[in-house]
Order: sequence, then C-alpha cells, then structure tokens
Amino acid sequence: MKKRILVTGGAGFIGSHLCKKLLEEGNEVLCLDNYFTGSKKNILPLITNPYFEVIRHDIMNPYYAEVDEIYNLACPASPIHYQFDPIRTINTSVMGAINVLGLANRVKAKVLQASTSEVYGDPQVHPQPESYWGHVNPIGLRSCYDEGKRCAETIFMDYHRQYKVKIKIIRIFNTYGPNMHPQDGRVISNFIVQALQGKDITIYGTGRQTRSFQYIDDLIEGMTRMMATGEDFIGPINLGNPKEFTMLELAEMVLRLTNSKSKIVFYPLPSDDPTQRKPDISFARKELSWEPTIKLEDGLKETIRYFRNIL
Ligand code: NAD
Ligand code: UDP
Repeated sequence: MKKRILVTGGAGFIGSHLCKKLLEEGNEVLCLDNYFTGSKKNILPLITNPYFEVIRHDIMNPYYAEVDEIYNLACPASPIHYQFDPIRTINTSVMGAINVLGLANRVKAKVLQASTSEVYGDPQVHPQPESYWGHVNPIGLRSCYDEGKRCAETIFMDYHRQYKVKIKIIRIFNTYGPNMHPQDGRVISNFIVQALQGKDITIYGTGRQTRSFQYIDDLIEGMTRMMATGEDFIGPINLGNPKEFTMLELAEMVLRLTNSKSKIVFYPLPSDDPTQRKPDISFARKELSWEPTIKLEDGLKETIRYFRNIL
C-alpha cells in the first residue's frame, strides 16, 4: 500500500538514499531539509518523480503534514560539522525529536529515530550490545552530538510511554558510500579524496583505533526492515557491520584501491576520540533477519567511483 513518508534530513548522505528507496517501493516521499550539511545535488535525480516533494525547513521549528511514517535523520553527523555550532547541534537533536514526536502523536504516524553508536561513547564493553549504557563524556567537544542523541532517545521513549506514540530507535554505526560530502571530514571521505588528489593521508593518533564500516545499501535495508516491524518492537537496535578495521588498515586499503602514491602522515588524535567501536548485531539478526552483505573493499570501490566523478 502506498504510504506518505516524511524524511527529515532527506537531502543528506543517508537521507537521499532512503528517499530513493522509499520512492522505488511506490511511496510518496516528503523530503525536509535546511541544507546545513545536505545538498540539493543529492536529491536532483529524484526531483522529476511526481511523488517526491521537497520542503526547506528547520526541524528546530514544528512542522505539520499528514503522514503515515517519519524517519528522523535531520542532524549534522560528522565531527567537523556537528562541532561547528554545538548549540545548534544539540538543539537540532532535542527540539527536532520533540517536533517530530509531536507531529507523530497528532497524526498517529510511526516515527523512527536515527540514533548512533556515539551513545556508547568511548566504549569499555566490546563489541557493543544494545544493553550497554555507554561511556560518554558529558562536557567534552563531542558531547553536543553524543548527549543530544542520548537525550533524543530519552524523549522518544517518554513519548512512547506517556502518549503511546509508535516509535522505533536504530543506532547507526559508521556508514559510508556515494553522496557523502567530500569535505565533511569523516575518515572514509577524507582518505579517498586525499588519495585521489595525491595529497597526504591524514591519520589521527597512532591509527590503531578501530571502527566498523557499513555500506549505505546495507543500512537502508536495515532501516526499512525496522520501520516495517510491528508496533510493539521499538528497539533500540544496532545497525552496523561487525567487521572491525584499524585506521591504518583502512588507509592502506584506500591507497591500494585508488593506486595512489599519497604518503601517510600522522596528526594528533582529537579529544574523546573513541579507541574502538564494533556493533554486536545479534539482536538485528534475530529480529530483522538482517546482516550486512557488502564487504568494505567492494563498498570502497563504489565510493571511490563516486568521488572520482564528482572531484
Ligand atoms: P548528513 O550531514 O549528510 O545529513 C544530515 C542532514 O540533516 C543534512 O541534509 C542536513 O542539511 C540536515 N539537517 C541538519 N540540521 C537540520 C535541521 N535543523 N533541520 C533540517 N535539516 C537539518 O549526515 P548523514 O550521515 O546522512 O546522517 C543522517 C543521520 O544519521 C543523522 O541524524 C546522524 O546523526 C545519523 N547517523 C549517521 C551515521 C553515519 O555514519 N553517517 C552514523 C550514526 C548516525
Ligand atoms: N580519522 C583519521 N583521519 C581523518 C579523519 C578521521 O584518522 O582524516 C579518524 C578519527 O580520529 C576516528 C576515525 O578516523 O578515530 C573515524 O573518524 P570519523 O570522523 O569518520 O567518525 P567517528 O569518529 O565519528 O566514528
């Protein structure tokens, strides 16, 4: 059945892929964005679809529309972007959550929150299951994002308990792919752009810190499966690829796949940078019959092709 679906942050990296998939499934999609980090270019191929609507709006302010489902993605996601205006970042998370939940409550829509592995902070439990409460610095440079997202989860749970709003919470681990902003400072876009331009590959710290990288198509599949679950299933649920890499391994793989002669150079580690991150996805395997299918090397090849085209 055709649904009317609101995607906040729809012009961003993840949002643009999600809008495309929801349209392909035959839905009507409302893409809401203030273009802080997103771009009209990401959604340009969708504009001619009569079931696609674009709304310039800041989710810190209430928005009204008759919709069946809401995916709440509006929030800068890369450390450079979310630290640019930290007050705005935390406001976007908190006021954004209140505004989409108010809307969902009024129109009886299902609403999914794009939370993050950052709620686990610099984790002391490894890999991270959903039951882990995290190890987060509440007053550091990353707190505007981490604590904003943690608070948004609280607000979602309380709207559910108090007003019976139909909610879903996913915790997304590092995701990459086409439509990433070339200057957003995240490690995969940085390394690929540097390698393609013959510039130094900048590793922060020793490069022995780990992350687990998920290709965008795997995430979109997990997100839509989560939205399709019954009302009683709310999460939070981890969506990520459990294969773990050091930043040194990632740099070497990018250099090999791009045939680049760039040198690796080392810079200081930013404060509160987590030393390790890897999702425990047993819950998603069991409840969504989902697990990532795209290997890092294959996803990187697609992403490199994208960056070669746009640079
Ligand atoms: P992105 O920066 O590409 O997309 C965010 C989008 O939200 C952009 O289009 C931006 O313009 C828009 N936006 C920001 N503030 C807004 C506001 N106040 N009102 C309206 N629109 C606003 O980032 P992304 O990687 O696509 O991330 C999307 C969501 O997924 C974010 O909520 C992020 O926290 C979450 N997430 C992403 C990752 C990842 O690895 N990419 C990991 C964990 C969680
Ligand atoms: N990083 C790096 N070089 C870069 C950008 C990032 O070594 O040019 C490191 C960063 O310090 C972190 C990891 O790569 O340890 C992932 O960083 P990213 O910003 O992509 O995501 P997050 O830290 O939010 O997981």
